[in-house]
Amino acid sequence: MKQKETIAAIATAMGTAGISIIRISGKDAISITDRIFKAKNQKCLAFSKSHTIHYGYIMEEGYKIDEVLVLIMKAPNTYTKENIVEIDCHGGAMVTNRILQVVIRNGARLAEPGEFTKRAFLNGRLDLSQAEAVIDIIHAENEYALQSSMQQLSGNLRRKIEELRKQILLELSFLEAALDDPEHICLDGFSEKLSENIEKWSIELKKLLSTADTGRILREGVKTAIIGKPNAGKSSLLNLLAGQERAIVTEIAGTTRDVLEEQILLQGGLSLILMDTAGIHNSSDQVEKIGIEKAKASLYQADLILFVFDVSKGFSEEDKQIAELIEQKPVIILLNKIDLKEEWNLEDFEIKFPNLKDAVKIPFSAKKGIGLEQLQQRILSMFYQGAVSYNNEIFLTRARHKESIENAINSLFAVKESIACHMPEDFFSIDLMDAYEALGKIIGEAVEDDLVNTIFKEFCMGK
Ligand code: GDP
Repeated sequence: MKQKETIAAIATAMGTAGISIIRISGKDAISITDRIFKAKNQKCLAFSKSHTIHYGYIMEEGYKIDEVLVLIMKAPNTYTKENIVEIDCHGGAMVTNRILQVVIRNGARLAEPGEFTKRAFLNGRLDLSQAEAVIDIIHAENEYALQSSMQQLSGNLRRKIEELRKQILLELSFLEAALDDPEHICLDGFSEKLSENIEKWSIELKKLLSTADTGRILREGVKTAIIGKPNAGKSSLLNLLAGQERAIVTEIAGTTRDVLEEQILLQGGLSLILMDTAGIHNSSDQVEKIGIEKAKASLYQADLILFVFDVSKGFSEEDKQIAELIEQKPVIILLNKIDLKEEWNLEDFEIKFPNLKDAVKIPFSAKKGIGLEQLQQRILSMFYQGAVSYNNEIFLTRARHKESIENAINSLFAVKESIACHMPEDFFSIDLMDAYEALGKIIGEAVEDDLVNTIFKEFCMGK
């Protein structure tokens, strides 16, 4: 059995760091280390207390390879619930690799990416949603992503799901018992009670489902589409926000032919995924036409649209078309090139966009950076509102969780329909079971090996 093997990997990034850590997990982790480690105090690790640190040398064939600190943690109170040893050695790639090789020659196997966390899951220390949170913490690129992942790691999603599953199971077992033993257990009034419960569970699940968008935004960033007619200043805006020359800025209309993506971190710690789009206008050029289609597609995916309007050119038919295209979305209108307009009045611009009258309008100059501060503040207040309370709330951060919850809601709805149609009670149990299993998938109960393997592949080595 694969899990019986002792695994090892370098747990730190390779390079010129001060120290590296080699992590070993499994039944033989301590005995393997005893074979290659000479403690300064001559003590054998196997007889040492758990969660202790030992100073000494890694040896091979009588030679000292490195001066190290060895941490021993005995099962079951460890990350993987197995024996774990961590060797802190000097940080060079050469010495770290050499120690890893010695560990492997003495009986360990090189760990696959994510295998330590996979063992934590298989040994029941983490559920699947917590294991995913570990991946998310490693990949977190902003403060909110980190906060929401930490919440998930602490098990709040798991607790919520387990609580709901327990209630469903209670009804299911009562139903099964009654169907098995109708003489002693009576189902009078059961349907009514079950209906009420289904209503209650569905409300809770829908509430969870409604957090999926915020959860994704926290994890990945606000998907932001930049739109405007050619030459309005979209690439200049992208460059200004990204702080580097990413898109090519030229004075020829229609040079942005593809959708570029750039992730930036706003001051408050929220990420934006900026999508620079080709200017949406009627074009006969084939390449540009493809760009325009892509731009339209990115509008549908966007959480936020930044509409760049060139105030030096005035309002055109193209601006009108764009305004119609985006009226259903959260929009900020940037009144760009304000530096070229000596006299202007915000109200003049307001009346130009009657169908976007509620949209925020910011006098802007992508060239001079005018309005940048205000733009950043606006975005933060649109998406960050109440983010501090995210601490105690549960957010669905993954499409996988969202899908399972949708399936559970559908199954519960099917039970409700069966009740409404006065179907016999045994009909309820199949759909109730489906709802129970759908929720189980979130925490990793009854999930296929393939899915588990796919999830753990997202990890880096040594985790
Ligand atoms: P895009 O086609 O919408 O991506 O527009 P670009 O970003 O390529 O800009 C077109 C031209 O307008 C370039 O020459 C920019 O330097 C210029 N431009 C962009 N924003 C401003 C601005 O705020 N003020 C001025 N004066 N020129 C700008």
